[in-house]
Amino acid sequence: MEKREKRILLCLCHLSGNEIKYVQKAFDDNWVVPLGPNVNGFEEDLQKFVGENKEVVALSAGTAAVHLALLSCGVGPGDEVCVQSFTFCASSNPITYLGATPVFIDSEKDTWNMDPELLEKAIQDRIAKTGKKPKAIVPVALYGMPYQCDKIMEISRKYDIPVVEDAAEGFGSKYKGQVLGTFGKFGVLSFNGNKMITTSGGGALICEDKDSKNNIMWYATQARDAYPYYQHSAIGYNYRMSNICAGIGRGQMTVAADHIRHHQKLASLYAELFKDVKGITFHKNPNSDYDSNYWLNAITISPELKIKGQENAYKQVITGAVGGAAGVIHAVDCPTTDCQPNDNVEALRIALDALNIESRPLWKPMHKQPVYANAPAYVNGVSESLFKIGMCLPSGPYVTEDDVRFIVDAIKESIVD
Ligand SMILES: *Cc1c(COP(=O)(O)O)cnc(C)c1O
Repeated sequence: MEKREKRILLCLCHLSGNEIKYVQKAFDDNWVVPLGPNVNGFEEDLQKFVGENKEVVALSAGTAAVHLALLSCGVGPGDEVCVQSFTFCASSNPITYLGATPVFIDSEKDTWNMDPELLEKAIQDRIAKTGKKPKAIVPVALYGMPYQCDKIMEISRKYDIPVVEDAAEGFGSKYKGQVLGTFGKFGVLSFNGNKMITTSGGGALICEDKDSKNNIMWYATQARDAYPYYQHSAIGYNYRMSNICAGIGRGQMTVAADHIRHHQKLASLYAELFKDVKGITFHKNPNSDYDSNYWLNAITISPELKIKGQENAYKQVITGAVGGAAGVIHAVDCPTTDCQPNDNVEALRIALDALNIESRPLWKPMHKQPVYANAPAYVNGVSESLFKIGMCLPSGPYVTEDDVRFIVDAIKESIVD
């Protein structure tokens, strides 16, 4: 196969909603600080999107939203928080920022998200071992797929532990017709450059009511008390969204529903095209209760499936890193770790890369990360085995149906028959 000129990226936001009009308005209004008409307008748009009975605060990042939600649940030094292990580090790192300890919960096979049975076992075991209840439960909508909302909320009520839904990847996904992020005490959204919609960088927290929103906003704006000078009775943060970024968000909200539909359309095409490919399984909604936004489309690859060149996988240290070129990445000496995707998965990644198609392994479970080696973990092997056989494929507004056909053909071509 010939590689194409245009690289097909994993997920790239599409500024098709006349964002510049709102950004220009920020300049015209001379509101370029972290408050103003765009911030208010964006929050109203988000509120309409998630449902009028909720309140939404726009913040500088999804990570900031996780941080403030946990803070507001009373998480502090010495506490524990039950968090899905199969996730991006931003779900669990804020637990550590607060001096608390993450307790990692493995996934179930259907949604790849937090296993409710293991969650309950972990809660009981933590109470037995520490004499204290975990302070919060953080399920994650991995790649947009809803978690088992009913069961997780039932456990939350039974033990009276609040849920902070990490719906950073699940913007617009629904469970039994209800938007993710509206089930728990808090719902986290992210508008990073690669998420369902973007504000360049940003996030939001869905709150239960006005008081809860005010409390979050207070912490997000350095926790100031009402005096003619700076007076603080708590440690605050500088986490509010800029009025310029919110302008991008307002534009994006005009096309959000189209973006979600496009991701879902690509998913059904992938599912259709992979149906007859032996050894490859497309990750899809387990049943009609689940309505994923299919932010990233994912497949699993049987360990028996032979991919051309797999004998050369992991022979060289790579110079980049997953997640784009942004920031600094620590170089490593050794191309392998004790827990990594199978050779056929890595060979497929390299084969697709040579055809100018970006793909990515699934997120490496947090309980397998060196930095969390000492954190308690309740595991059943599901996330670790998925990590070894899984792969994310290009999704999003820039990916065409023709691209999907090209990608699936490229995958078929790389299989040794
Ligand atoms: C992206 C992401 C976040 C954090 O969002 P940022 O806006 O990048 O800070 C949190 N959790 C998950 C699962 C994510 O994918």
